[in-house]
Amino acid sequence: MITLALSKGRIFEETLPLLKAAGIEVLEDPETSRKLILPTSKPEVRVVLVRATDVPTYVQYGGADLGVAGRDVLIEHGGAGLYQPLDLRIARCRMSVATRDDFDYAAAVKQGSRIRVATKYTEIARQHFADKGVHVDLIKLYGSMELAPLTGLADAIVDLVSTGSTLKANRLVEVEHIMEISSRLVVNQAALKLKREPLRQLIDAFASATPAA
Ligand code: ATP
Ligand code: MG
Repeated sequence: MITLALSKGRIFEETLPLLKAAGIEVLEDPETSRKLILPTSKPEVRVVLVRATDVPTYVQYGGADLGVAGRDVLIEHGGAGLYQPLDLRIARCRMSVATRDDFDYAAAVKQGSRIRVATKYTEIARQHFADKGVHVDLIKLYGSMELAPLTGLADAIVDLVSTGSTLKANRLVEVEHIMEISSRLVVNQAALKLKREPLRQLIDAFASATPAA
């Protein structure tokens, strides 16, 4: 049996065409089914539904043989025990620094002030500001980052941006671009040895279905 870990929502939706190209159809819709293990048209392949941030953990410990996870999630996880053979170029967005439109970020950085930054992505934020030599106090949040600068909890946030409409609706502006984000295929290293042939076939099929850079 090959177990593929996916999260509901955009990763599931955007992985479906790749699975289809590999000749695999998921037989139940996660939006209507309550099942967490979904059978596919290939009896030897199943999909397990987990939180996006749990995908690397499932694959690392062998709860799944492979999975699809965002670059953001993989950096925060650290990637231990994971083979990352393929950038699938799906669920694309960017990681950015944003502030209230009346906050002078450039001046704060120039003056060497300590900046309070709220984020779910503390590892990416820590690395980014360390590289720039900017002193920050990081505040860990689990959602609704946009609220932090509006309530005075933080001066800035580090968050994923795609169209920018959520920032705009909350009078926030993107002041720095940190990195491009897309989702990758991650594979359990032990499974790659034990189930070499079926996993190779699946990885190759995904690779052929992934648009070129
Ligand atoms: P939840 O939204 O249920 O709290 P989550 O934010 O971890 O969970 P998703 O929103 O499905 O899960 O995001 C999964 C992945 O998709 C993220 O890790 C990121 O790589 C990518 N992503 C997040 N937001 C966007 C977006 N607006 N546009 C494109 N890709 C995105
Ligand atoms: Mg989300």
